[in-house]
Amino acid sequence: MQSTNVLILGGGPAGYVAALRTAQAGIATVLVESAGPGGTCLNIGCIPSKALIHAADEFHKLRKQGAVSQLGIQVDAPTLDLGRLNEWKGGVIGRLTTGVQALLKQAGVQLIRGHGRVLDGKTVEVMPAGAGAKPVRIVCQHLVLATGSEPAPLPLLPFGGKVWSSTEALFPETLPASLAVVGGGYIGLELGMAYAKLGSQVTIIEAKGNVLPNWDAALSRPVEKRLQALGVELLLNTRVQEGEPDQGRLRLVSQEDEAQERQFDCILVAVGRRPRSREAGIESLMLDMDGPFVRVDEQGRTSMRQVWAVGDITGEPMLAHRAMAQAEVVAAAIAGQRRRFDPAVIPAICYSDPEVVVSGLLPEEARSRHGEVLVASFPFANNGRALTLGAAEGFVRVVARRDDHRILGWQAVGPNVSELAAAFTQSIEMCARLEDVAGTIHAHPTLSEAVQEAALKALGAGLHT
Ligand code: FAD
Ligand code: NAD
Repeated sequence: MQSTNVLILGGGPAGYVAALRTAQAGIATVLVESAGPGGTCLNIGCIPSKALIHAADEFHKLRKQGAVSQLGIQVDAPTLDLGRLNEWKGGVIGRLTTGVQALLKQAGVQLIRGHGRVLDGKTVEVMPAGAGAKPVRIVCQHLVLATGSEPAPLPLLPFGGKVWSSTEALFPETLPASLAVVGGGYIGLELGMAYAKLGSQVTIIEAKGNVLPNWDAALSRPVEKRLQALGVELLLNTRVQEGEPDQGRLRLVSQEDEAQERQFDCILVAVGRRPRSREAGIESLMLDMDGPFVRVDEQGRTSMRQVWAVGDITGEPMLAHRAMAQAEVVAAAIAGQRRRFDPAVIPAICYSDPEVVVSGLLPEEARSRHGEVLVASFPFANNGRALTLGAAEGFVRVVARRDDHRILGWQAVGPNVSELAAAFTQSIEMCARLEDVAGTIHAHPTLSEAVQEAALKALGAGLHT
């Protein structure tokens, strides 16, 4: 039996950030983590996926040669060493997870490696990792639930063998000649495009009428165009009706009831994620829920006193930066500070090719909340930096109130537009108006000039349009 003030269950971005902050506030903190510190994000999510995407981009550029030969660069046909690629990816993960462990140690957090099971709102039983270990009971004053999420399976295609979740797709031992990707959302596009660039024949099967269906068609169109250029087969309005997963066989059916039988070397199922709570015994607390997610207030309090929840387990959007921001608030609340999790906006980025950023309201959402709004797009085809990068596809779009020109949303599709997310989000958090952005000097030549140009255009004063 051990006791502590704060016990955090789960060491992903939500759990480790909360632990760092409570420990830094001088509160005795224990962090229980069953796999690697850094959670899904560092070990089997954001970081390995972006590393794989980068490697696939580099390989594709050289393999296709078109992109580099146009610049006068000639190369011999490249080959791919998956083992070395996985090693490099592992190195990036190792560096970051070691860094997190060092930060936890420095802050005085006690990290216990093992599987935790909630017994009641004040007690967790931990089965430490390692053979012959005995369970330890830890009693706490504050319990923070940060157990995250896991890939949602399709009943017809349970994970295993030829059926991959994102985790298997991030660490391939061999490259499948053909890969079916069920789901054209974040993971389907990011990893589907990476595999296509590495050389697999990829088929994306999406139930809705366009990829990234939560956003509008103007944003998904450039991505769909690129999928076509990469030779990716895109089956929209299509579902898996039957499957023989052992054989890699799928029977697909379209909205018009047209069926086709297909065979693939591997099938990546990427149809969303679900909270991870059952194995941790969280359900036994009988907390108020929002569907499958633990309901929390704006400080991360659950319906049970001194039991808190943070990160993916509390619902959408299931993103690492949201988890970390929420964790800061929970830690502050435990430390007795008055803070609320009430962001004006949580940016979202799909690292497809081209990248897509959404920060704030889409035009339709803005119209339904604010009536008539100003919407303007500036194409990268008119941006000098985009042309020098050989990537003139896409645009920056701004959405603002018509009456006082307050900015409500930004969207962008294009090369490296993920880096514009900070400017977008800051302008909305700071209640900027179109005039604030239009009147700011943007360095030349940069992609960010398209941001200023979109604001100018919304004001009816477009310069390079
Ligand atoms: P997790 O990161 O899931 O951490 C939960 C931790 O709790 C895990 O380490 C787990 O081992 C531990 N745990 C669970 N149960 C127990 C238990 N009973 N005992 C002990 N430990 C336990 N988000 C972005 O913002 N940007 C991206 O680019 C991005 N890319 C992604 C790519 C992929 C392929 C995936 C799968 C996800 C991606 N995400 C991305 C989402 C992001 O990873 C999550 O939103 C984020 O990790 C959530 O943090 P969390 O701490 O709530 O949960
Ligand atoms: P997602 O919700 O992004 O996309 C799932 C897609 O699958 C949707 O387009 C949906 O219409 C489709 N779909 C659902 N059921 C289907 C079916 N039976 N047949 C065909 N299509 C079907 O989910 P994901 O791609 O699995 O990613 C899970 C979560 O992980 C994301 O929601 C996000 O929170 C996080 N994530 C974020 C990033 C990032 O920030 N760049 C990257 C990867 C994952």
